[in-house]
Amino acid sequence: MILNQIFDAINIGIVILDRDLKIYEWNRWMEIHSGLEASKIHGSLIFDIFPHLKNPKFERSCKSVFYFGNFCFFSQKLHHYMFPFRTTSYSGSEFEFMQQSCAMGPLRDENNEIKYLFIYVQDVTEVASYELKLVEMNMRDGLTGIYNRRFLDTKLKEEFNRHKRYGRSFSIIMFDIDHFKKVNDTYGHQCGDFVLKSVSSRISSVIRNVDFLFRYGGEEFCALLPETGIEAAAMVAERFRTAICQQETNYDGTLIKVTISLGVAALRDDIESPVMLVENADGALYRAKQEGRNRVVTVS
Ligand code: GH3
Ligand code: MG
Ligand code: MG
Repeated sequence: MILNQIFDAINIGIVILDRDLKIYEWNRWMEIHSGLEASKIHGSLIFDIFPHLKNPKFERSCKSVFYFGNFCFFSQKLHHYMFPFRTTSYSGSEFEFMQQSCAMGPLRDENNEIKYLFIYVQDVTEVASYELKLVEMNMRDGLTGIYNRRFLDTKLKEEFNRHKRYGRSFSIIMFDIDHFKKVNDTYGHQCGDFVLKSVSSRISSVIRNVDFLFRYGGEEFCALLPETGIEAAAMVAERFRTAICQQETNYDGTLIKVTISLGVAALRDDIESPVMLVENADGALYRAKQEGRNRVVTVS
């Protein structure tokens, strides 16, 4: 009697299945989230209610509980959820479905025979959402919201190795705002920040969605262009250049125009590391500055 009250009051889902994988019992938590009363689904095959559970992992796990008395864990990180319930507990969630950590194990009768298995379902949506936000924050620049230098280092290594291994083309564009110090000196640092945000968002709006944009540091940016050779990359860089020089940033009624200089480099046989690729693009950027700024220089 007392245990029954706990069964229904507890803030986790409990499902009990018999050896035919028919539902023997589930608690109030499961009723609330599934919208199905325990008395109505008693005796139903679990696969008739949740067809997606008819998969090798779930069926194998049930077998190992009944045959060997094993416990099985289904972590949210690997599976996201076992039962597709809409999220309710945490309104700010990024997830369409409640994220669940689940486990299953044996229930024995007085003769120590495994008659049933239990599944418990824990709602971990809130923790999973925070974790997702932390991962996302760690990848992004605080001012502009585009990817940061830390993520560039990771992504560049990854893309470099992938493209090198398969002999695919891969290019990067380094670019830097021209005479940016003058913007700060003339209009103030706050205005400089505003221009940085405006340049980032303009480039974000013209970049192809297969490419990646990073703030390299200060007023310097980097774009990674997977599967892109030098000519196509030079065209992308030219698109960036015109997008910025045609734009006027309105800062509290003051119209500010800036330009950018860009260096483009592509993967070649003699480029042996991500650092070398960046150095090549940086060298081209340096030449773009020397040759008068507001231009694209390509490493030939
Ligand atoms: P160049 O055309 O040769 O690139 O000239 P520049 O003035 O853009 O280059 P320089 O390296 O002399 O100056 C870069 C300036 O960018 C100096 C620095 O204060 C400013 N800066 C770097 N990061 C930020 C930032 O986050 N916010 C603001 N407002 N300014 C920044
Ligand atoms: Mg600059
Ligand atoms: Mg600079």
